[in-house]
Amino acid sequence: MDEIFIQNEEQRAILDSVRRFVEEEVTPRAAELDAQLDPEDSFSWEIVEAADAFGLRTMSLSEEYGGMDTDMLTTAMVIEELARGDLGISVVFAQTLKIGKHMERVLNAEQRARTLIPFRDDPRAILSICGTEPENGSNGIVGYPAPYTTRAVKTEGGWIANGMKHFISNSNRSRFFLVHMQTDPDKSMLDGATVFLLERGHPGFTVGRVHDKMGERLANNSELLFTDCFIPDENVVGEANEGHIIRRTFGPSSNIFAACSILGVAVALFEKSLDWAQTRIQGGKRLIEHDGIRAQIAEMKMLIDASRSYTHRAAHLADHPEEGWDPSLGSLPKVMASQAAWQIATWTLEIHGGHGYMKEAGVEKLVRDAGAFLHSDGVNRALLLRAANFIDA
Ligand SMILES: Cc1cc2nc3c(=O)[nH]c(=O)nc-3n(C[C@H](O)[C@H](O)[C@H](O)COP(=O)(O)OP(=O)(O)OC[C@H]3O[C@@H](n4cnc5c(N)ncnc54)[C@H](O)[C@@H]3O)c2cc1C
Repeated sequence: MDEIFIQNEEQRAILDSVRRFVEEEVTPRAAELDAQLDPEDSFSWEIVEAADAFGLRTMSLSEEYGGMDTDMLTTAMVIEELARGDLGISVVFAQTLKIGKHMERVLNAEQRARTLIPFRDDPRAILSICGTEPENGSNGIVGYPAPYTTRAVKTEGGWIANGMKHFISNSNRSRFFLVHMQTDPDKSMLDGATVFLLERGHPGFTVGRVHDKMGERLANNSELLFTDCFIPDENVVGEANEGHIIRRTFGPSSNIFAACSILGVAVALFEKSLDWAQTRIQGGKRLIEHDGIRAQIAEMKMLIDASRSYTHRAAHLADHPEEGWDPSLGSLPKVMASQAAWQIATWTLEIHGGHGYMKEAGVEKLVRDAGAFLHSDGVNRALLLRAANFIDA
């Protein structure tokens, strides 16, 4: 981590605890958990509980809800540190930290009392946000006027929901969910969708298939099914048909944290490349002494530093929009960081020669992980299109 971004002793202390947690709890277990054939076996409650024990799980919330009210920049640095240990672990907490903070902002007092207090007190409580469904992925990211196929129809005292979401991070493990559903069938998801608050175990709301992902395996993703699910009016977040407001306020932080997660993988790849280049001897000298390799190592560092600067600028401005927030910052830093990570992954494989292709080197896990954010939190092309909409508004 570039010291320039650490602004005070509190941040330093938080980052030191996170580094210790990664070294003691994540690094020793990551490879074995990643190698499990059943994706559900790759998830570890022990790691979640160990994170809770030093305040990580709730750190972005205010004190009342067990947190430290960490700002975007500090949370961003925490997420990158977690991803240096393992991408999946970083995603479990990036989701929980950003959704928790968002819930504190958008839930009403009664909803906060019945969700954020139990969330604070349950060391295993993690969170999900659910937009994507089989028929709607990029539509929701770019902002095309299509409706969600998951529908909630008004009835006495509430809504009856039917449909399904898929690919949702944490969702077979989460305790609370924010779910986007179409509530006005004559409109699009932009002006006819509502966000509902749900708790695991709600009648008519079940987990479907757990996806078997190629990487990021320490986080689980699954389908969520809604079958004649009655949702009371008290569970509407904000106003009916105004889900777009909730989505708009959530989007920027979501994408910035996604950038931090993939940046951590890029750093892990860089460190592996550097280590190998400093020890492997060919042509009578260490690889790092060959100019081609030397330049490539410098280029990796450049891509990481530039992506981090961009991401941290976005994180700072998200908290201080009056200093010049630009809405493209809610899309472009993730595109840049994920492209950098993918580039660095291929160079890392190449620098390791045949050794990198052997599982024991640990490069292949990082390569699988590096692919995760070319599309998570929006396919890069869809995010470029979303940013273009702000440029050509
Ligand atoms: C690991 C992981 C975690 C995820 N977690 C969550 C989560 O927690 N919550 C959630 O709601 N979703 C989640 N998602 C879903 C993710 O946001 C979607 O997969 C993503 O938005 C892409 O949607 P899609 O898969 O349907 O692809 P599609 O939208 O079908 O895209 C396929 C291709 O078509 C291209 N394309 C689409 N539209 C256009 C266009 N107009 N012009 C040009 N090209 C276009 C895309 O760029 C892409 O290359 C997750 C996905 C993954 C893989």
